[in-house]
Amino acid sequence: MVKAVILCCDLIRDKQCIGCERCLTAARKKLGEFEKFDNVEIVGIVSCGGCPGNYVPRLKLFNKWIDGFDDYDVIFIGNCIKAATSFSGCPLDPGEMAHIIKEKFGKEVIIGTHPW
Ligand code: SF4
Ligand code: SF4
Repeated sequence: MVKAVILCCDLIRDKQCIGCERCLTAARKKLGEFEKFDNVEIVGIVSCGGCPGNYVPRLKLFNKWIDGFDDYDVIFIGNCIKAATSFSGCPLDPGEMAHIIKEKFGKEVIIGTHPW
C-alpha cells in the first residue's frame, strides 16, 4: 500500500471535476494510473494554487501541514493538469513538474490519474 497526494489544477478542481470523485473512485478501485500499486491511500489533494502554477511552494506548505500527522511516498499529477496543459494554455509541463518534484521532494511521481 502506498500513501499518495494528487496535485490538481486549481481552475478545474471542484468546478469541472466535482468533488474530485473520479480520482478518489479510481484510487479506491485501483483503476487508471492507480493500478500500478496494490493499494493507494490518498492523503491529500493539493492544487497548484492557480495560474501560473506555484505547485512547489504549495507542496512545501502541504508537507509542513501533514508533518506529524501522516506521510506519503507518491505524487500523482492529476488528469486535470494534463488537460489544462493540453487544451487550456496552462504554462506548466507535467514532465518537467515530475522532474522538479522528484528532485526537490524525493517523491515518486506518476503523471495521470483516473481512466475516464
Ligand atoms: S482530475 Fe482528479 S484531482 Fe483533478 S480535478 Fe479531476 S478528480 Fe480532481
Ligand atoms: S497553472 Fe495550469 S494547472 Fe494551475 S490553475 Fe493554471 S491552468 Fe490550472
